[in-house]
Amino acid sequence: MIRLINIVAIALFIIMLIVLFKFDLVCEVTIAGESVGYIANKNEFENKVNEIINKEEEAKLYTTIENMPEYKFKLVDKSEKTNEEAILAKLEEDSETTYELYAVTLDGEEKTVLASLEEAEKIVDEMTEKYEDDLELDIGITNIITTDKEDESTVKVAKATLNNDIEKKIEKIEEEIEIESHTVQGVYLEVTPVSGIITSRFGSRESIRTYGHTGLDIAAPAGTSIRAAADGTVTFAGYSGGYGYVVKMSHGNGIETYYAHCSELYVSAGEKIEAGDVIAAVGSTGNSTGNHLHFEVLVDGTEIDPQNYLYN
Ligand SMILES: [Zn+2]
Repeated sequence: MIRLINIVAIALFIIMLIVLFKFDLVCEVTIAGESVGYIANKNEFENKVNEIINKEEEAKLYTTIENMPEYKFKLVDKSEKTNEEAILAKLEEDSETTYELYAVTLDGEEKTVLASLEEAEKIVDEMTEKYEDDLELDIGITNIITTDKEDESTVKVAKATLNNDIEKKIEKIEEEIEIESHTVQGVYLEVTPVSGIITSRFGSRESIRTYGHTGLDIAAPAGTSIRAAADGTVTFAGYSGGYGYVVKMSHGNGIETYYAHCSELYVSAGEKIEAGDVIAAVGSTGNSTGNHLHFEVLVDGTEIDPQNYLYN
């Protein structure tokens, strides 16, 4: 009896030795029910998984791993290798981090995104101070919860973006003011017909006439191109008393422009003209003492001061 127990004990011991030589007790890792490999030490591995989840990063709210690993202890052939690094890499790849970022807004529109609220506030303060006198800026900050940190910009880029957008806004406002200041009853007088020296203003009384001047005189060499002040239609192109050779244009809304004392006319009645088109050449025909353009602007048949809208 004792002998038999001894034999069994020895046999078991031999089997144990074989197992120890040939097999290892390892931990199998499964992700979403699928085996992804083996690790040597479960605790160490779990610590590394936690490191992925708890990795510190600016603006980070939290990291999640969709399918957390599960573990099973197993005896496997020693030739099986562990692949801890590869499993960790897969988990890291499957992880998703959510961030809280801060968008600087201009007129309610998100312009540039930063990871730091403090930096965003600094930029808002800086821009508000810089542009305070120019216009009322609606600059604010809104927070964004996102898994996409790619949108984040550096402080330098954020400033440049915002500066650029504010400059564009100022430009647009100035352009609107400019257009408005050149608009008579909805008609935009956008082109000065000739550039030159103003020799007689609207309303001035001079020896040459007994009434107030009905237009604006701009001296320029004979032959200088005269351009249409606005889009419109030629209503008259020909010789007319004191005006000499004159082009009269209608721009709608009761607005007309006259271009007088011309040396040559390039258009005829009925023609549609665009602002800036050359319609005549400077001369001294009619009641004139030298080469100049006599430019008139009329509203409902009454002359107004062109310098309210052009040459001002
Ligand atoms: Zn004149």
